Amino acid sequence: MDGETTMKCGLEIHVQVETRSKLFCRCPTNYNEVPPNTNVCPVCMGLPGARPMPPNKKAIDIAIMVAKMLNCEIVLDKDIYFQRKHYDYPDLPSGYQRTTVPIGVNGRFLNVGIAEVHLEEDPGQYKPDLGLVDFNRSGIPLIEIVTEPDIRSPEEAREFLKQLMRLFRYIGHLRGEGTMRADVNISVNYRGIQGNRVEVKNINSIKGVYKVLKYEFIRQKNILKRGGEVKRETRAFMESQMITRAMRTKETAEDYRYIPDPDIQPIVIDERWIKEVESQMPETPLEKEKRFIREYGIKEEDAKVLVSDLALAEVFEKVVRDLGVNEKHVNLAVTWIRNELKRVLAYNKIDFLESNLKPEHLTELIRLITDNIISQKIGKKIIEIMVEHRGKKSPREIVEEMGLTVITEDDVLVKACEEAIKNNPKAVKDYLDGNKVALHFLMGQVMKLTKGRAEPKKVVKILKEKLDTMV
Ligand SMILES: [Zn+2]
Repeated sequence: MDGETTMKCGLEIHVQVETRSKLFCRCPTNYNEVPPNTNVCPVCMGLPGARPMPPNKKAIDIAIMVAKMLNCEIVLDKDIYFQRKHYDYPDLPSGYQRTTVPIGVNGRFLNVGIAEVHLEEDPGQYKPDLGLVDFNRSGIPLIEIVTEPDIRSPEEAREFLKQLMRLFRYIGHLRGEGTMRADVNISVNYRGIQGNRVEVKNINSIKGVYKVLKYEFIRQKNILKRGGEVKRETRAFMESQMITRAMRTKETAEDYRYIPDPDIQPIVIDERWIKEVESQMPETPLEKEKRFIREYGIKEEDAKVLVSDLALAEVFEKVVRDLGVNEKHVNLAVTWIRNELKRVLAYNKIDFLESNLKPEHLTELIRLITDNIISQKIGKKIIEIMVEHRGKKSPREIVEEMGLTVITEDDVLVKACEEAIKNNPKAVKDYLDGNKVALHFLMGQVMKLTKGRAEPKKVVKILKEKLDTMV
């Protein structure tokens, strides 16, 4: 990351599935809207002898869908056991959490490998400050996504999670960032010295993950720099202080004493089940990419960039349809959305949704350009202003307020051309000597004189006429 120090980071991301009832019982899942310990029964409280119901099918469907959307291979025609993962914590009276073996494996999302996707149950909530354990949350279906340690910087982790949350919104049936909890593991290499892997548990926001990685990167690097050893351990994130603190030495799989849960039939996913899920599945980003290439004839690279931000992909499609699907409009939409808008969003470090822009803003902007009311150069400026103002003003309003309409009046343009010719004898000579590129330079000068408002075609015509009389 800074030349002599690199980092590797993997994430384990948990997100709740939006189901009406819990994973193994019929208790409702609106745990935040009811008093503590009201959505409970012997099953989700883990009382001895309580028999779980067969797992909620919708939760499994969504887990399969998530795995498919992350380009995983689904574990087919095999027993997928619910295992008991043992640990002691006040929110887990049974002493174990039920978690499946992988449902999907070997996936990829953005440039990050997805090791596995599985389903598990959420534990309850222990609130030490209130001396209370609330079991409303216990038994809510959770999907866990485990990535390979392919992430190389805090910024990459943040982008990955942002895109993942976007994908979740796109899939639907998931509760998104509000219920997200992530564990991160990070190791640092300083001048070839490899430190141990450290895990930080239970971070509940994207910003938190970013801060943890920034903090751990520096902490581990400093230890290695002093010649010390980074301990293999689990740490907790102290959000109020923005630091991490040692929790315990890392558990190994053995500590959890995984055993298949004898009360629950294993899941077996067959082709038919996958087909059924696929029929309810939104278009995957990859399918969208292929369709964009096929339907609109855009370049693969452009399709990839558009689809990487689903909101942007939707804007592109809406704008092209509103303008009328043809090659010219598609090219304009690519130029103004994939290139210009994306550039301005990146500069402002926000995504399309955060910009509050609407597809209509872009359609209007492109129409202003094609109708020759503003120049391309002014168009770029307007996108910047729109994003800065978070979509509060339409392109037309900005144009009118700032007087940015294109100059088409001949006398004004002729004057500007004459001035450009007068001030740039070298370019004029070059042009007359046969160097046609010099015309672009003169054209640029006219644009400068008119603050980008001159109509380019007319300027070229006038410049040529003037120059030709000078031969
Ligand atoms: Zn229950």
